[in-house]
Amino acid sequence: MKYHEMRQEDIEKSLNTNYTNGLSEEDVSLRRKQFGYNQLEEAEKQSNLLLFFSQFKDFMVLVLLAATLISGLLGEYIDAVAIIAIVLINGFLGFFQERKAEKSLQALRELSAPQVNVLRDGSWVKILSREVTVGDIIRFASGDRIGADVRLINANNLEIEESALTGESVPVAKSINPVTGDHVSLGDLENMAFMGTMVTRGNGTGVVTAIGMKTAMGQIADMLQKAESMVTPLQRRLEELGKILITVALILTALVVGVGVIQGHDIYTMFLAGVSLAVAAIPEGLPAIVTVALSLGVQRMIKKKAIVRKLPAVETLGCASVICSDKTGTLTQNKMTVTHLWSGGKTWSVTGTGYEPDGQFYSGEERVSPNNQKALNQLLTFGMLCNHAELVTRDDSFMVDGDPTEGALLVAGLKAGLNRDLLLQKFKIIKEFPFDSTRKMMSVIVIDQNGKQFSVTKGAPDVLAAKSESILWDNRLQMKTGELFKEVESAIGEMSSNALRNIAIAYKPLNGIKAETLYEKDVEEGFTFIGLQGMIDPPRPEVKQAVRECKAAGIKTVMITGDHVLTAKAIAAQLGILKKNDKVLDGKALNEMDVEELQEVVEDVSVFARVSPEHKLKIVKALQNRGHVVAMTGDGVNDAPAIKSADIGVAMGITGTDVAKESSSLVLLDDNFATIKSAIQEGRNIYENIRKFIRYLLASNVGEILVMLFAMLLALPLPLVPIQILWVNLVTDGLPAMALGLDKPEDDVMKRKPRNMNEGVFARGLGWKVVSRGFLIGLVTLFAFMLAYKAHPDHLAYAQTVAFATLVMAQLIHVFDCRSEVSVFSRNPFGNMYLVWAVLSSLVLMLLVIYIPSLQPIFHTVPIQLKDWMLIIGLSSVPTFLLAGSFFARKK
Ligand code: ATP
Repeated sequence: MKYHEMRQEDIEKSLNTNYTNGLSEEDVSLRRKQFGYNQLEEAEKQSNLLLFFSQFKDFMVLVLLAATLISGLLGEYIDAVAIIAIVLINGFLGFFQERKAEKSLQALRELSAPQVNVLRDGSWVKILSREVTVGDIIRFASGDRIGADVRLINANNLEIEESALTGESVPVAKSINPVTGDHVSLGDLENMAFMGTMVTRGNGTGVVTAIGMKTAMGQIADMLQKAESMVTPLQRRLEELGKILITVALILTALVVGVGVIQGHDIYTMFLAGVSLAVAAIPEGLPAIVTVALSLGVQRMIKKKAIVRKLPAVETLGCASVICSDKTGTLTQNKMTVTHLWSGGKTWSVTGTGYEPDGQFYSGEERVSPNNQKALNQLLTFGMLCNHAELVTRDDSFMVDGDPTEGALLVAGLKAGLNRDLLLQKFKIIKEFPFDSTRKMMSVIVIDQNGKQFSVTKGAPDVLAAKSESILWDNRLQMKTGELFKEVESAIGEMSSNALRNIAIAYKPLNGIKAETLYEKDVEEGFTFIGLQGMIDPPRPEVKQAVRECKAAGIKTVMITGDHVLTAKAIAAQLGILKKNDKVLDGKALNEMDVEELQEVVEDVSVFARVSPEHKLKIVKALQNRGHVVAMTGDGVNDAPAIKSADIGVAMGITGTDVAKESSSLVLLDDNFATIKSAIQEGRNIYENIRKFIRYLLASNVGEILVMLFAMLLALPLPLVPIQILWVNLVTDGLPAMALGLDKPEDDVMKRKPRNMNEGVFARGLGWKVVSRGFLIGLVTLFAFMLAYKAHPDHLAYAQTVAFATLVMAQLIHVFDCRSEVSVFSRNPFGNMYLVWAVLSSLVLMLLVIYIPSLQPIFHTVPIQLKDWMLIIGLSSVPTFLLAGSFFARKK
């Protein structure tokens, strides 16, 4: 028999598991041996050897190798071996960079790997989805992705979207009864849930019947989830730019060779010089360095508790101009404590902080016992019944397992001496309608000891008040008159404007109606309103500062919350989000506006209250239409569309559902607003660092080409020999460029306006900086060559060595310039020690090449006299002083 046809108890036996305790760790390790891990087999990775060889597939590198081979055959052994060695080292570098980039991307994927809630040895634990095995009992709720194929044991309003398997996007309602009949299709298996499908509503438990490649998902291998695009807009632009640069480099090189030949140089030398120049001038390492810079930045973000799920987000982050943030848990601590209660015109306060179940109840100044106050007692009792949270102790402190709002209600009940286990014996829960932020409430149907059946609902006070027919007032049931309703409203208003987050409790008698026939709409209206529990949810201490920094960075913070307008306003004002002239819009107002209308006012709104997740999409669209780059946070299933359409979708790591996380490009491990700010800061920094090394590398290349071109045009001998050009390309260009990728941000990165999303690689003067500096580097190198050649007309190698040293020095000085958009003098040269070490090693390597006798024949160098170093240092620092001087002149 198949699992879907069997009765639940038979499955328990056949899979040799236990529905109450789950599997034991021993069972698990035995089963792991039998079934393996719960994972889909991945496509094979490119092998190391292949990746290594792919480093040499570049056309110019092949030409260089061929040319070298020819020169080897012609007897130029030393040159040939040296060139091949350099090409090989370059290949290795490229190989390691790519592997590193790949590894960090892989690590990223693993960090966002899905988790599953399983019952092991009698308690519920969260484990990685790959650790799940056959016979495990797992549970899931709205927003979760199912981790394996399961037969359902429990289904509470459970609906699952199975489009990944069936193509059908309408969610399927699930039940637990056996399904029989021939030819049932996957879509008909109502009592099964499949790996990779999404819970869109309700919750449930199930027993795992298949894992890994044995699941329905595993069997349709071609439908496996495709990896997200990991190429960023800048990388794409660089790719296009790369093609242009190659063409330009080739044309210029051809020019150098052509002019050289016309001026009488021998063809063979010019050819080798030309090819070396082309190899040096084509920035083939750029994409890999960009990837490494991006992924190192991503690692730094992880340290700051932000996980980038899609690499392009790293760049987009730097462009963000609005952050729309949830309130609860992101701007606030989500550590809730009930401090005030209200029912029928009476108010009570409760003492105690945090989740410690210790506190007293007061009515005004007078201490009261909740057991003697019927309304208060009922408020607390129902708050505990309609509740899933558990109080646990960890490291000697009390913590809540579950929803903090419910935790607060639980603790309030415990403070009054109520015991949930006893309550659950008195009131048997027979059905539940789980909370969702669109309805803003949750209900349970219970039967008490006398067989009376009724429902208890808790939720947003204004919603419940509006749907109530009667109100419990002074322990008596009263019809909801206009006057009483006003009293309730003003109690809600009063508590909310003191920044309390309120939950209302209501009930509804349902005698004699079969629970199976009852749906949300039957239960969740026509209530009797009992009262309110008001809880404080203190703002996160670091948020105020983060909001201020964002403002300085030209980024507006907008609060979006399901909470009451007044609560939202009070907290937004405390955090500096709501300023004097800012507007507050609520869900009702949003319902009445279309995107165009919202667009008109959206710039002035800093708080959206009482919104449903659906409104978030409208807000994103309106802001985007106004030209904003929007970061939007979210945690639930219904937040997914908004998260997806935002420029940067941000999901909560702790409270976020799988659906939200999978739609997002950034996950906050600590759910903290301040983390978004840090990520933006890091995003800006990464982009600036990439600009820095693009500037460095391209200017260096321009300099290398121009010095050769100038020399040919002036009918001079070759100022640099091929191997020297290759050496500069490997050492002087490579190391410092990597170090620039690790540079710290300039002091004012968070004081600048956000970058324009569409800005090109050469925007903000970068193109000019590259060309002008490249020109100057070329010029001073040529000048040094000419002076040295004039002084030693019979000793070309000497002049070439001077030119080589000048080129290297000019670049190594230039690299410090690249650290700042403003001027080299605005930054401490020792601020980036990686760079200092990279520059020092390049210098030492240059000196070795010049002064070690055994290296001299390989690199065609000769020792430089001390007095000529003055000339080299003087000339190579000219560009920096010239350009810095022109900067200061402009500033004046
Ligand atoms: P944010 O959107 O900032 O995270 P939020 O938690 O207030 O804020 P929702 O989760 O959409 O937003 O909740 C909306 C309202 O529903 C809350 O203001 C509260 O009144 C009510 N509510 C929240 N959690 C529960 C719950 N577990 N059971 C019943 N009602 C709840």
